[in-house]
Amino acid sequence: MTSVATHCPYCSLQCGVTMRIQAAPRPPLLEPDDFPTNRGGLCAKGWSAAELLDHPDRLTTPLVRDNGELRPSTWDEALDRVTAAIKTAQARYGPESVGCFGGGGLTNEKAYQFGKFARVALRTPYIDYNGRFCMSSAATAGNRAFGVDRGLPFPLADIAGAQTVLLVGSNPADTMPPAMQYFDTGRANGAAHIVVDPRYTATAKGSTLHLQPTPGTDLALANGLLHIAIREGYVDQAYVDTRTSGFAAVRAAVAAYWPDRVERMTGVPVAHLRRAVELLGTARSAMILTARGAEQHRNGTDTTQAWINLALALGLPGRPYSGFGTVTGQGNGQGGREHGQKADQLPGYRRIDDPAARAHVAAVWGIDPDDLPGPGVSAVELLDRCGRPDGVRVLLVLASNVVVSAPDRNRVRERLGALDLLVVSDFFLSETAALADVVFPTAQWAEEDGTMTNLEGRVLRRRRVLDPPPGVHDDLTLMSLLAERLGHSFSADPRTVFDELRRASAGGIADYAGISYERVDAEQGVFWPCPSDDHPGTPHLFADGFPTPDGRARFIRVDHTEPAETPDREFPYVLTTGRVMQQYQSGNQTRRARSLHASATDPKVELHPDLARRLGIDAADLVELRTRRGRAVFRALITNTIRPDTVFAPFHWGGEQSANALTDPALDPHSKMPAFKVCAVAITPIKED
Ligand code: SF4
Repeated sequence: MTSVATHCPYCSLQCGVTMRIQAAPRPPLLEPDDFPTNRGGLCAKGWSAAELLDHPDRLTTPLVRDNGELRPSTWDEALDRVTAAIKTAQARYGPESVGCFGGGGLTNEKAYQFGKFARVALRTPYIDYNGRFCMSSAATAGNRAFGVDRGLPFPLADIAGAQTVLLVGSNPADTMPPAMQYFDTGRANGAAHIVVDPRYTATAKGSTLHLQPTPGTDLALANGLLHIAIREGYVDQAYVDTRTSGFAAVRAAVAAYWPDRVERMTGVPVAHLRRAVELLGTARSAMILTARGAEQHRNGTDTTQAWINLALALGLPGRPYSGFGTVTGQGNGQGGREHGQKADQLPGYRRIDDPAARAHVAAVWGIDPDDLPGPGVSAVELLDRCGRPDGVRVLLVLASNVVVSAPDRNRVRERLGALDLLVVSDFFLSETAALADVVFPTAQWAEEDGTMTNLEGRVLRRRRVLDPPPGVHDDLTLMSLLAERLGHSFSADPRTVFDELRRASAGGIADYAGISYERVDAEQGVFWPCPSDDHPGTPHLFADGFPTPDGRARFIRVDHTEPAETPDREFPYVLTTGRVMQQYQSGNQTRRARSLHASATDPKVELHPDLARRLGIDAADLVELRTRRGRAVFRALITNTIRPDTVFAPFHWGGEQSANALTDPALDPHSKMPAFKVCAVAITPIKED
């Protein structure tokens, strides 16, 4: 039996798996590996991943829309239709009338090639991706404070060695269970774990202390903890003096966040605030880790910065078993934002408005820097441009199901419906693909080669286990075929693309120049930056300084601001959205996995028993949620793990069960990340016959 080592297709943990190939027609067997991220563990999603390879819903032929209906076509017909639409739109409205929308699940090679395809083959600035929804506030804050954005600046295993861990807006016990072994080891060795979450999650249940703030008040909470840390003498002044800048302004700002005021703002008792600071301040080693709960707000960048300020004041970044980190979500959320798939970036995590970066990348691409388009717009802004007279007329979507995952889905559907041509590449007919004019069937994870970069900044190999079904090509091939019709030559070979990516990234922040497929194979992944063949890679950042012009990390003064929406008479409660264990992202894949159905068939809205009683709602009743943007219907899950003023709905479903029919597209001004975590909602029980 042939065995191939590769990685789970889903989250940023990128658990190692071995696929054992059986005689046809039996599908490959999947089992966990003893890889450094999962050490033999897998979650239910990972165990189910092989089920989708031969799923009956697989698309195996392109589809084109005629007379309102999608029908099978040949690749040539579909490619010709797309090429003709691009040429027509660009002749009529200019190159900027075509846009590209990518995903954090694309391999590094595909993310790189998509950025190049947009700027070289299409000559458009309009490319962005769904990572804007799930990580961009932490990325922006990290770049601002540290001069670099790498989710964890240390290996995951370091978590086990931290004496105190403060985890903000992250629930790895449900979202990436194998990672919990590192938290559990720390707890078994006496570590104190503090969880900040408006829900008493599975992760919070095992913690030393749970802080349950009102959604949208995390920044005030962080400033309040820093206020106490200063007052109680826990600031590492030598570290602040020698390794940071800007502390005086932050110290002045947090002076106003006295504990009883912070209790009123956040709902977290003063005693809990003091206990959290004591656990952090007295620890020999401590980590502050944030995730979507801190980021998906209109002030998500500043909120993340507030937690960074606390970490810097305590002298944590760059110290052993200590630091600040962000728990990335999507499988290639990290790599997906390093190689030019973002509107404002070029490969190597370079800024697209930096003349030196433009010259370097243009030379690799063999074009004049003046022909390289400038910055585009963020994901929500790009979707909003669709179908406008002077906006994007043709949109290409790879690895993204925006009709489910973007905020305010009704507006997204309306904008996509106004396009001249919507093109989607996917392996299933997602909710977005179902609206498309042309759909290309693409390869799945086990049918392609490439690399992924996990939450630690570790570059991993995705290995081809079996051939895609007849009629299916991967997205590198799709881009190569389209580029050829547009007069350009783009390789469809992952290794060739990766070698070009290495050259394009050389000298950048995310420098992959010394990373090769052979090294990744031999070393269980290589951590960037790795600027040369003989460089060992960089598992730990910041030990000797920060990649800022003066080598110091930056404190930045941030102040609490109200969410874009707060409860009022018409919409009296707070809605917060998130994930459940059995589903991944838009659910396009996991909703089809038979083994996951048994445990999670329908989305449920979580309500506190007091709220349910007041509204006359019983367990499993149908409940309508309504916001200023739309409505959705869920079954009620009554639980005292949520605040009485807040309800929680998962976002993995479409149609009537779409939480993103409700969410607020208000954007963080720095990262352009939507405010998925807070909006005002009305709740009505639905009487069933
Ligand atoms: Fe591991 Fe994440 Fe896959 Fe679960 S979804 S098996 S945690 S990589």
